[in-house]
Amino acid sequence: MNTIIRNALLSGREGLWDIEMKEGKFARIEHDIPDKAETEYDAKGKLVTPTFVDPHIHLDKVLISEVVRPNVSGTLSEAIEIIWDKKCDYTIDDVVERASRAIEMSVSHGTTHLISHVDIDPICGLKALEGVMEAARRMSDIAEIRLVAFPQEGIIQSQGTRELMIESMRMGCHRVGGMPYNEMTYDDSKEHIDFCFELAKDFNADIDMHVDETDDPNAQTLQYLAAKTIKEGYQGRVTAGHTCALSSYNDYYAAKIIDLVAKAKINMITNPATNLMLEGRRDGYPTRRGLTRVKQLMEAGVNVAFGQDCIKDTFYPTFGQGDLLEVGMLLCHAAQFSMSDEVEKVFGMMTENAAKIYGLEPFGIVEGNWACCNILDVTTIQEAFRTRAPRLYVFKTGRLVAKSRQESEIIRHPAVVKS
Ligand SMILES: [Zn+2]
Repeated sequence: MNTIIRNALLSGREGLWDIEMKEGKFARIEHDIPDKAETEYDAKGKLVTPTFVDPHIHLDKVLISEVVRPNVSGTLSEAIEIIWDKKCDYTIDDVVERASRAIEMSVSHGTTHLISHVDIDPICGLKALEGVMEAARRMSDIAEIRLVAFPQEGIIQSQGTRELMIESMRMGCHRVGGMPYNEMTYDDSKEHIDFCFELAKDFNADIDMHVDETDDPNAQTLQYLAAKTIKEGYQGRVTAGHTCALSSYNDYYAAKIIDLVAKAKINMITNPATNLMLEGRRDGYPTRRGLTRVKQLMEAGVNVAFGQDCIKDTFYPTFGQGDLLEVGMLLCHAAQFSMSDEVEKVFGMMTENAAKIYGLEPFGIVEGNWACCNILDVTTIQEAFRTRAPRLYVFKTGRLVAKSRQESEIIRHPAVVKS
């Protein structure tokens, strides 16, 4: 069984292309494939891109703001507190239902691969993990999900979490998560990181932590994480999400840390939607933007991607729809990516850079690679962000997994009626 997409515009390549997908992979990419395929789609000269990869989302908490009290202060700490009560009454069915809805939203917006953090703590035990695992299994025909065991409540200050983290890795979590800043002392933060490395080494797993998600310049666990990564020989296997405090360091200390992050080959993930909303709440004016130093990290050669992070949860209660073009457009504003080539870099962050973090290599529309691509209703990447272009067709491993249509029409009149 094969499928051909005709008349595709490919970024950076001259002319229109026919793309044949067979046995889940891109089989041929030529200007004119003469043979007829079993199924054919006409891209009509529109842009065909790789599908998107969301490297940071919390599928256990999505859509929870619909059923809990509001986050009045808008801070990270209140968001965590509200969720304690809800987590006590989690049922696996509830988690499956919300996570599945969010996966469908993401696929409909052209994202076929996601990395989900899942809370692991004595409040919800392993229920959140069981729920997200079940949702991932049920949705496996349209999306692939990797799971990170996430000790949001801390490890040292949260008795029983170590054992649950070990069990979650036994159950099949792919990565060891962490949140070292959420400990009582800096020594405990270091012990938290040390434990995560021991666990990761035991399971030969990568590490993906929430790091210094605060405006407080005294939050400096990124330095210890980077140094530990180098000492343990874990270069290229560690990802740090958020790292908001890096923006609040003085320029000398920030330069030292960025250099260390580059040496440790740590992947960095910024979450502009959530952090624009959460950070700077105690600032008054001027109010900080709350994002990490995205441009400086990229200039230092660090692999940087961005994620949706939250969809209608207590951290980001009103917004989010699993649309990385929307999140990317927010990033363009928040980190000032305004030039045409800069906007293309942001697109690279949600495709190649995120795919590298996911471990989806080789990646892209090249013969022999997995046939995951979107037909967007535009002809340039810049227009894709500007219009949040309809994802006309979404293909995963050669099969159509979503389609959409968006039409609007202006109705003109011969006589003017003024209001
Ligand atoms: Zn997060």
